[in-house]
Amino acid sequence: MNQAALHADVLVLGGGPGGYSAAFRAADLGKQVVLVEREPVLGGVCLNVGCIPSKALLHTALVIHEAAEMAEHGISFSKPELDLDKIRSWKESVTKTLNDGLSGLAKQRKVTIVHGVGEFASANSLSVQNAQGISHISFDQAIIAAGSQPTQIPVFPHDDPRLWDSTDALNLTEIPKKLLVVGGGIIGLEMATVYHAFGSEISVVELMEQIIPGCDKDLVTPLLRRIKKQYQNIWLETRVTAIEALPEGLKVSFEGKDAPESELFDAVLVAVGRRPNGKKIAAEKAGILIDEQGFITVDKQQRTNIPHIFAIGDIVGNPMLAHKAVHEGKVAAEVIAGHKASFDALTIPSVAYTDPEIAWMGLTENQAKQQGVAYDKGVFPWAASGRSLSMGRKEGITKILSDKETGRILGAGMVGPNAGELIAEAVLALEMGADVDDISLTIHPHPTLSETFAFAAEMITGTITDLYVKK
Ligand code: NAD
Repeated sequence: MNQAALHADVLVLGGGPGGYSAAFRAADLGKQVVLVEREPVLGGVCLNVGCIPSKALLHTALVIHEAAEMAEHGISFSKPELDLDKIRSWKESVTKTLNDGLSGLAKQRKVTIVHGVGEFASANSLSVQNAQGISHISFDQAIIAAGSQPTQIPVFPHDDPRLWDSTDALNLTEIPKKLLVVGGGIIGLEMATVYHAFGSEISVVELMEQIIPGCDKDLVTPLLRRIKKQYQNIWLETRVTAIEALPEGLKVSFEGKDAPESELFDAVLVAVGRRPNGKKIAAEKAGILIDEQGFITVDKQQRTNIPHIFAIGDIVGNPMLAHKAVHEGKVAAEVIAGHKASFDALTIPSVAYTDPEIAWMGLTENQAKQQGVAYDKGVFPWAASGRSLSMGRKEGITKILSDKETGRILGAGMVGPNAGELIAEAVLALEMGADVDDISLTIHPHPTLSETFAFAAEMITGTITDLYVKK
């Protein structure tokens, strides 16, 4: 096809989960769609260098830990032998299966994929640069789904292969003896989980007084207790002031509570957040307003200040999560097709796939306190869950916050194995306007971890029998 002559009813810029969902939905609604993606495969950061490969490695890490912990159950395995090349190719086989699936889905829908770096040339055309040169695509409407990139710290050296971002960490080129993780957020802690299982000595440095600062402390504590035993150091309220590249390692200087003045590491992973790609797409040529950080402002229909151009996903704001982008992408496609759609989700759940996993949604307890919301709280300890104990795990909790007046669910969180799967029920409860009676009177299968959600509701209704609570 002559790319220079391409015209799209709907042009989608970026082929991550938000972009491909928007493109597929628009095609299903009868639009002729062109999807522009700079990488040779679809799936974006999430599928290629984010959520999916990290989950593949986290699964490996979990099996290593569980096998070791089976010794207490009377089954001992010998020390695992790692074949890094094989682990890497297994991880790549997972992403390739999904890449191929997406190409197939695009073909079935007759979505035209153009690979190359896209930049706006005007409010109705995009230039695409690739190995063949520069071509132009004209469009009636567009959806920007150009994502985000890791935040770099300018004063750190940038060309040293021992200084990693999340993509480098997922490449699994070596297992450093001593790994420093800068940033105790979700990426940092997930990658720490993987490298610890693979044998690295881990140190974590976090600026704030708590790891995963956006989450309630009681949900984070079981994870913190476990990793304190596993990791060499967890330095809170500490910043890295300098990193010096020496032949024998990276010399890292710290300033903060308990950290040493400096220490040598074999590799340093910087995971201090992500920033939007808004300034990389020549949006000004289309008249689209970008804020100082690079975010594009949109309304509830995902519309930018230019009425026929929409934006979705990481580039429109936090939280930078694939499941948010997917929903926003569908809204944009439906609005373009003339549907009365808007993004009105009550909550976007968060999950840290650490061990234990932490998941939360709705109002956090910190937010409830700050906002002066009158709430009841039910906390069920997994130490009283037969299923959790049978897995050899007792540190988990499930917490529900409900409206003091109406009993309606306001927020919930879990920490423990599989918490990321369990949170979906809480999200549904919130979206359906469920109250604590709805939850406690819903028969949950026994023995499951899912029961803990009903037990937490029973802690509020006062009907709990799995624990004794003094009146
Ligand atoms: P994050 O915001 O979750 O965590 C960054 C952490 O670094 C924070 O705790 C912050 O306080 C700390 N920090 C910032 N500057 C620092 C400094 N100079 N020194 C030490 N600590 C510092 O960001 P992330 O972990 O990089 O993840 C980026 C984005 O990707 C987030 O939006 C996250 O939600 C998303 N993500 C989600 C998942 C998931 O859903 N499981 C997984 C990975 C990433």
